[in-house]
Amino acid sequence: MSRLTEYVRGNRREIGVGAAAGLLLFLLSRGHLTGAVPLLLLMAMLLLVLYFRRSGAPAGGGVGVISSAVGTRFCDIGGQDRALSELRESLDLVVGDEEAARLGVRPVRGLLLVGPPGTGKTMMARAAAAYADACFLAVSGSEFVEMYAGVGAQRVREIFSRARRTARRESRSAAIVFIDEMEIVGGKRGRHSSHLEYDQTLNQLLVAMDGMQRDESPRILVMGATNRRDLLDDALLRPGRFDRVVHVDYPDFAGRKQILALHLRAKPLADDVDLDALARETFGFSGAHLENLSNEAAILAFRERRDDIASQHLLEAVEKVMMGDKIDRRPSREQLHRVAVHEVGHALMAELLEPGSVAAISIAPRGGSLGHVRKTTGEDQFLYTGAQLRREISFSLAGCAAEQVLLGESSTGVGGDFSRASGLAERLVFAGMSPAGIVAEETLPQDQLNRLVRDILNRQMEDAVRTVRAYLWVFDLAVPRLLEEERLNGEQLRTLLSPGEMPAG
Ligand code: ATP
Repeated sequence: MSRLTEYVRGNRREIGVGAAAGLLLFLLSRGHLTGAVPLLLLMAMLLLVLYFRRSGAPAGGGVGVISSAVGTRFCDIGGQDRALSELRESLDLVVGDEEAARLGVRPVRGLLLVGPPGTGKTMMARAAAAYADACFLAVSGSEFVEMYAGVGAQRVREIFSRARRTARRESRSAAIVFIDEMEIVGGKRGRHSSHLEYDQTLNQLLVAMDGMQRDESPRILVMGATNRRDLLDDALLRPGRFDRVVHVDYPDFAGRKQILALHLRAKPLADDVDLDALARETFGFSGAHLENLSNEAAILAFRERRDDIASQHLLEAVEKVMMGDKIDRRPSREQLHRVAVHEVGHALMAELLEPGSVAAISIAPRGGSLGHVRKTTGEDQFLYTGAQLRREISFSLAGCAAEQVLLGESSTGVGGDFSRASGLAERLVFAGMSPAGIVAEETLPQDQLNRLVRDILNRQMEDAVRTVRAYLWVFDLAVPRLLEEERLNGEQLRTLLSPGEMPAG
């Protein structure tokens, strides 16, 4: 887009008003307008200008949402003990800080919450306001910035003065200004196409933060939230501005259990619900996922007209949150048969390599996939050994191996498995666990990497094919059952596997 087009787009209203004024003057000078008409037109234009000023730069209504009656408390937030204690400590410096002042501790002006989406950053800011008995003003970074130069800066000034006004009106000693999507208003300067406006907005925010004094009343604390700290301008993270950074991570096993307990506390649960098992099944879930899971389980129980939520509803909700909704359009019988063979291949390999590891196997199409095998994760896995990576590769390739052995050739359904297996093989190479030994990721030629990955995949594929051939009887039992029932849980699958002799993993 040319600079001129960009300018015109960003200044449509001003150009419109200017053109109308020019036309009015022209018509007046030519004597085309007489009587009260020019006066009326002039008044209409003035009203228009006033209207634009109000909508461009909020005078009374303004950006952001003020909520003084903050409902969220720290006890409503699960699985973030470390982040919460850091937050509390910072807040103690904002309120009731006589001791800190006596020692000359510089007050905290800004606090940045950094973490992935849905991990509870907004909840923490709200709970912080409740803890500090402060009024709470929330605004999203995108609300500040418009194409008009100066509007963002004016909105920053407005938001700070609104926070002060509200705190005074409510006789509170502090106000928290919470800016979500901080990377939009605080992105590195000089990077945007309309960078003047972005830069002015950020500069105004820096000025506003620098102007905040220890002894001012009410005190203001700026809290920002972002999941892209790398995009923030360095000036924002300088001591004296956002000088406290609190990391909010995905919850671990104990955290997930705590969050599930919080979201299920008001729901009627059947006796078979086991929160430990559920927390194990939900590795990688954020607090928002877990809240969604609890809600989806309640909906499933409601659809069945049950009085309480049973374990099966929660497990189905895990799949729904992970894979999306079931798709109504059913594949043909022949395609379903192929999907069943593929999934039994995965499940067989998983059980052989790690007995007891399959949680469920399903051929109900969900989201983007036609079927899937869900494994139980014994404990959160952050590191993999070479043997574990090879096992994961075999597991990924087993669906393809089953299709090849039983149906003569594989299908496009194996694409996702191949990219996962290749990714795992690359991790093996870069961890120095391939025949090439220790290699540097930056200097390893692409050709050599491809060769190493191909060798690893071929070896694991040969293994997978051998395994499938040795366990053809499992397919004879499991595929028809899966086609009939659509979903088998881990226990049902293991019962099917038990008549045979399992080789040691
Ligand atoms: P985003 O970065 O997308 O703005 P966020 O980190 O601000 O997300 P929140 O908006 O605070 O996330 O969380 C969304 C919802 O998820 C909350 O309303 C709550 O129901 C649930 N939730 C998230 N984290 C937690 C948690 N730690 N404990 C309890 N509930 C949580």
